[in-house]
Formats: sequence, C-alpha cells, structure tokens
Amino acid sequence: MEQRSKLAIVTGGGSGIGLAIAAKFVQANIRTVIIGRDEKKLRAAQQQLGTLCIPVSADLAQLNNLPALVQQIVTGHGPVNILVNNAGINMKKIFTEVTDEEFQRILLTNVTSVFALSREVVKHMLGNGGGAIINISSMAAQYGIPKVIAYTASKSAIEGMTQAMAVELSPQGIRVNCIAPGFIATDMSAKALNNDPERKQKVMMRTPMGVLGTPADIGDAALFLAGDASRYITGVVLPVDGGNSIGF
Ligand code: NAD
Repeated sequence: MEQRSKLAIVTGGGSGIGLAIAAKFVQANIRTVIIGRDEKKLRAAQQQLGTLCIPVSADLAQLNNLPALVQQIVTGHGPVNILVNNAGINMKKIFTEVTDEEFQRILLTNVTSVFALSREVVKHMLGNGGGAIINISSMAAQYGIPKVIAYTASKSAIEGMTQAMAVELSPQGIRVNCIAPGFIATDMSAKALNNDPERKQKVMMRTPMGVLGTPADIGDAALFLAGDASRYITGVVLPVDGGNSIGF
C-alpha cells in the first residue's frame, strides 16, 4: 500500500502567518489541516492551496470541543505528525483600562487552548511514533512593549510552556519548538502599527534589516522545525525577526 504523506495541523491557518505556514507545508507535500472560525476564509485558503489543504472549522476557545475535534481529524485523516499552534489574538489597550474579562479572553485563546489542543494531539502522537510541535510567540516575550499586557503575558507563557513540553515530551519522540516572529506584515500587525506611526517608527528603528518580515519567512522556519532537518533541535525559541530582538 502506498504510504500516505505526513499530516499537519495548523491553527489559524486561514489567514496571515498560519496561511503562509500551510502553504509551505503543502508545497512540501504535507497534508495540512487548517483550523479556523471563518468558513469562508478557510474555503478560500483551500482553493488557493489545493487538495492537500484540509479546512476544518472550529473555535479553539471552546475547550470542551477540542478532544472530539482532534479525534475527528485523526479518524478522518490518520495520525497527526505536526502541530503548529499559530492561532492567536492581540489587544492593544492601556494597562489600567484592560478588564479582567479581556485579559482572560486573550489568555484563553493564546495559552489555554494551546495547552488543551496540544494535550489531545500529543495523546495520539505518543502512540504513533512521535512528532513535532511548533508554538508561536512574539517579540512581546523578548522585551517590554506598552499597551499589550495580556498578549505579553500569553506569549511569555508560550515560551515557558515550550520548554516544559520539550523536556517532558522529547524523550518520547516529540520535539517541541517555538518561533518568535518579529514584525510581520499581516492584518494583526497592520492593526497594531498602521494608526500608530510612532510605534511603527520605533519598530523599524530597532530592526537591523530595516523591513517588516513576510508571513512566508515564518512559513520557512516552521517547515524547518517540522522536518528532519531539525531532528536534533528541541526546546528552542527561534526569533525570525530581521534582528529586531537584538536591535539597538
Ligand atoms: P491573523 O489575525 O492574521 O491570524 C490569526 C488567525 O488565528 C486567524 O485566522 C484567526 O481566525 C485565528 N484564530 C484566532 N482565534 C481563534 C480561535 N478561537 N479559534 C480558531 N481560530 C482562531 O494574525 P497573524 O499575524 O497571522 O498571527 C498569527 C500568530 O502569529 C499569532 O499567534 C500571533 O500572535 C503571532 N505573531 C504575529 C506577529 C505579526 O507581526 N503579525 C508577530 C508576532 C507574533
């Protein structure tokens, strides 16, 4: 019987960085499940990427549904080899105006759902020869950025979780790594930067390469961390940032 190609899940794969990661995976012949909330966006992504792209509509903040979601993917498409926890939300607001509910909402999507989805996928990976997990952090976890308190807390948690997952899961054949994108041209960064020229200038001033990154730059890094070329790499946070994190 012909061996099926690898299977990946990319959360938030219908747009921005997630879509670019899915595109790189599909180009590498990896069957790629993209999970998102917006069915129209997911269908458009599939049209663009072709039949190796499998759209699955779900709200990852609905934690109770995640075990069944993963089971449905495994039943329909076989064992998951790669998980990219890319879906995330941001909120720019001054510290004293952030409500407890808003803070929790960001943490729920950016941290708790990453944990819950990873746990369900790992249960399957353990019985199927291991795999690779890639989490997505941000410059907000590398240095202090004002007006993004909940987002910063969430991305710092992601980096800590990457290390904890890597030490616990690597002995069992699951490598866990993290990409820290710098400032990448997507809807999310446009919202944060376009009406705030001072912030944009600050970003560019401390980015030695002098330009925003592209979603495809993150896609290339994800493909590297997902495959055998990185077989001895686990627990790292890889900045893909044009030097922003070390910029003066
Ligand atoms: P984006 O808003 O274009 O994409 C995020 C995706 O996540 C969207 O498709 C959205 O629908 C999905 N998503 C959000 N909540 C979800 C939920 N509850 N259930 C299912 N899907 C959900 O943003 P992006 O810029 O492509 O960001 C992708 C990741 O990269 C995020 O984790 C973000 O924090 C991180 N990041 C982005 C930048 C940047 O400059 N754009 C920088 C650093 C980190």
